[in-house]
Amino acid sequence: MRLQSFGAACTVTGSMHLLTLDGGRRILIDCGLFQGGSEMEARNHEPYPFDPAELDAVILTHAHLDHVGRLPLLVNRGYRGPVYCTPPTAALAETVLLDSARLQVEGYRQDLRRARRQDREHEVLPPLYDEEDVHRALALLRPVLEFGQHTDVAGLRVTPERAGHILGSAYLLLECRDGRLIMSGDLGNRESGLQLDFTPPPQADAVVLETTYANRTHRAWPETLAEFSNALRQSVRANGKILIPSFAIERSQTILHALKKLMDSGEVPRIPVFLDSPMAARATRAYFGFGDELVPEVRDTLRAGEDPFAPSTLHEVLTGDESQRINRYDGPAIILAGNGMMTGGRIQHHLRHHLWKPGTSLIIVSYQSPSSLGGQIVAGADTVQIMGENIAVRAQVHTIGGFSAHADQEDLLAFLETAGSPHVWLVHGEVPVMDAFLPKLAARGLKGDIVLDRQEVELMGSGFSGGRPPGLALDPVATGVKVEAGE
Ligand SMILES: [Zn+2]
Repeated sequence: MRLQSFGAACTVTGSMHLLTLDGGRRILIDCGLFQGGSEMEARNHEPYPFDPAELDAVILTHAHLDHVGRLPLLVNRGYRGPVYCTPPTAALAETVLLDSARLQVEGYRQDLRRARRQDREHEVLPPLYDEEDVHRALALLRPVLEFGQHTDVAGLRVTPERAGHILGSAYLLLECRDGRLIMSGDLGNRESGLQLDFTPPPQADAVVLETTYANRTHRAWPETLAEFSNALRQSVRANGKILIPSFAIERSQTILHALKKLMDSGEVPRIPVFLDSPMAARATRAYFGFGDELVPEVRDTLRAGEDPFAPSTLHEVLTGDESQRINRYDGPAIILAGNGMMTGGRIQHHLRHHLWKPGTSLIIVSYQSPSSLGGQIVAGADTVQIMGENIAVRAQVHTIGGFSAHADQEDLLAFLETAGSPHVWLVHGEVPVMDAFLPKLAARGLKGDIVLDRQEVELMGSGFSGGRPPGLALDPVATGVKVEAGE
């Protein structure tokens, strides 16, 4: 069984792995968008070195944009076969892809207007796809994958298991004549407030493992919740607006649930909560249909007919006008808005209105890439550019790291514990992070290799080969900007 990666090799974005089986059958695992800066995003336009029409199947591990975002493009380029996923992944993928198409088209129009003024229209790349393309891709979804149940995919026995990363996320056990392979997809943080832990994997001959946070340890969930509660109480005392930039899928639901808990228990006063993200509101509906997938506390709340994602003071803000009107609301209030790295979306106008006021609090609950607006604020910038204006940073900034949806180093090592002694192929990580993880594998008697971009890897069996040749230095800079994977 051979692997070739066209994304998430020496980087954390654009997951797309091609498996070639005996007899030339080809299965694509994930079809994600590259995110995080124009250089990285330009890679989305690259042609594939294979003919999409000749693929036998596509399997999606979960609905984050960096795992599903190039699917409509694959269909535009000729793919017409089945796209397997779990039912919750199908539900979330619709929200994620339609939003992506809207951003593609809006971004294109904006770039074109700017380019016209500079007489360089010819340089503007067309949108990757539009809403119509998304609907053609959604029509190919086969949400038939169930955790623990085998499905035959192009003659390969595929068993999805719970990955505990976001709603519906799966890792895959693939069995063929060569042996047993595990494709990890993205694995979850076992200290998550919403997701059940990943299922311990069975013995395998090879594991293709994500390594996003393979060099880190996250805080425990109770500590994270206490830290969040402290930040909120301090912020309420400051009597201003509390801004929480948040991604629409999983992070918004995690934060809403935490707010409900803290307000219901009286730890945090019941001040208004504005969810200023129609996409997050839509994604939350998908969670209602799959309560059994969530931690018992949330599942039981749903079974009792209550909404675990709705603090009693919640207002869902739908239109742009309503969003503007929040800024005229007097008194303290919590505003959750996208996007999580503050590089666009409604959070920007809230920041422009409030970041310069000393009473404002900014609570950061997601990873911020250094080049993003959020990254500049975290680094301590005195002023930042927002919507073409210089804005002073006078707000209190709180950073809370424990809300990550990704496995940390201990989670990844725990995942490998039950897998026997597989060869471990590292993907979905930055080179320095993967380099730091290799000795941890060796200490447990496991052999590991870094999968290079577009390199043909023989994953297992007698002829297995691939990985970094001895002595080859990998340039961490060339491997791209780190983004909070998938959001
Ligand atoms: Zn993900």
